[in-house]
Amino acid sequence: MAGDLAVAQAKPMRHRHELGSRLAGVVALTLLVVVGGAGALSVTATAQAYREEARDRAAGMLAMLSVPAALAVADSTFDRLDGYLSEAVRPSGQDVQLVAVVTLDSAGRAVAGSTDALGPPPIPGYPADLSQQFSTLAVQSRHPMWRRLSGPGSRVHLLVAVPAVSGLRWGTLVGVFDLSMVEARIAHSRRYVLALAFSVAALLAAVTYAAFSRMAVRPMQELAKAAEAIHDGRHDVRLNWQRQDELGAVANSFDHMANEIERYTDSLEQKVAERSAEVEAKNVDLRQVNAQLREAVTELERLAHVDPLTAVANRRSFDNELVNFTALGGERPWALLMCDIDHFKRVNDTFGHPVGDIVLREVARLLRDELRGSDRIARYGGEEFAILLANTTPDAAVDVARRLGLVVANHNFDTISGMPIGQVTVSIGIANFPSDATESAQLVERTDQALYGAKAAGRNRVVRWESGLIEAV
Ligand code: GH3
Ligand code: MG
Ligand code: MG
Repeated sequence: MAGDLAVAQAKPMRHRHELGSRLAGVVALTLLVVVGGAGALSVTATAQAYREEARDRAAGMLAMLSVPAALAVADSTFDRLDGYLSEAVRPSGQDVQLVAVVTLDSAGRAVAGSTDALGPPPIPGYPADLSQQFSTLAVQSRHPMWRRLSGPGSRVHLLVAVPAVSGLRWGTLVGVFDLSMVEARIAHSRRYVLALAFSVAALLAAVTYAAFSRMAVRPMQELAKAAEAIHDGRHDVRLNWQRQDELGAVANSFDHMANEIERYTDSLEQKVAERSAEVEAKNVDLRQVNAQLREAVTELERLAHVDPLTAVANRRSFDNELVNFTALGGERPWALLMCDIDHFKRVNDTFGHPVGDIVLREVARLLRDELRGSDRIARYGGEEFAILLANTTPDAAVDVARRLGLVVANHNFDTISGMPIGQVTVSIGIANFPSDATESAQLVERTDQALYGAKAAGRNRVVRWESGLIEAV
């Protein structure tokens, strides 16, 4: 299956610290949400408490001023009250700072204050209407009142009204407080909590990352490396972890699997080696058989062209050579000789065929040794040899034939055969190419005729076809 193949060939991919950093990220985020959320809640609660405390302190400050204010309104001694109220708005360095205060009579008119205004105290950054509305309500209210005003930036003001009572209700004290410092403290504490949350989250994330890397990521990387080594063919790699946890179980399984792979691979390699040895042995046998076959073929080829008794070419080979000579002869003259042993039957009859064979072989050798490399000799049949003399004129052919006849006639066959054979002679017929014939069958026929002539003329002689001339040796 293509899918299985792809899996088998896939190289393990390299992953770096992915799990550790991801887990650290998750931890950091969770901690940020938890710690940041808790911090934000606590900051909100603290801010609420700060603001309530500031409001109470502001109300308290006005309440302290309300008694002299009530007395002053009752006596109509406003100059002293003005000084008193002006004194109260002097910067104190406190985070709850009174910036303006006015005493209103029961009709809502300003009778004394820290400013020269004739109405309610002005609020920096706000229209006069706002203070006016608040003051109108405050004059009618029997209880203290307040209103928080958040301006641009971190400017926060608090409007506070307290009844001025001395036995009777004589008026109302309305003050404007600057709470910017309180808000600054709240903002500062918010920043502090957030920074703390970030720091704690980052620290715990780093610790988680380090711990997780050590406990899980690094072992997993080691496991991946070992798996890659097995994949690359290093089957002796083992983890040998002594851990009791899940990773230890994975490592055990891995080592077990590696053992199996190694064992299986070894047995496979052994089998392959055995098979290779068998194949190699068979190859050696085959090579030997092939060599023998080649030798046999070579021998067969040789036998197909060689006469087994005399070791000169056979009739078939001669026929081929004759065709070649005729085809390639062209203008150059060459000669065909037919050489027949005289009265050979007698040799056989007198000394037996084995001795006849020896004589035949010896005659063939004598004739062959007398020829040039370019000439050809073949056993034409029985005790008859055909000889092709390359590049030879008719006269030269007669000379060669005479020499051949002499060589045989002068040879001592007794020694080689161990019998008193005496003289052996041959008769030779000659026909020349192209002067006597240019066609092979006709040339053979005429050579035969010349040989017949030699026999008829008494044997042991050479006859040329052309003129019927009998050339005695
Ligand atoms: P001629 O002078 O007329 O050629 O007489 P001849 O006896 O040589 O001729 P003939 O044709 O009567 O006899 C040829 C003999 O050659 C007959 C045969 O037994 C012998 N012969 C042919 N081939 C072989 C051979 O391979 N070995 C032996 N030993 N004798 C052979
Ligand atoms: Mg003969
Ligand atoms: Mg014969």
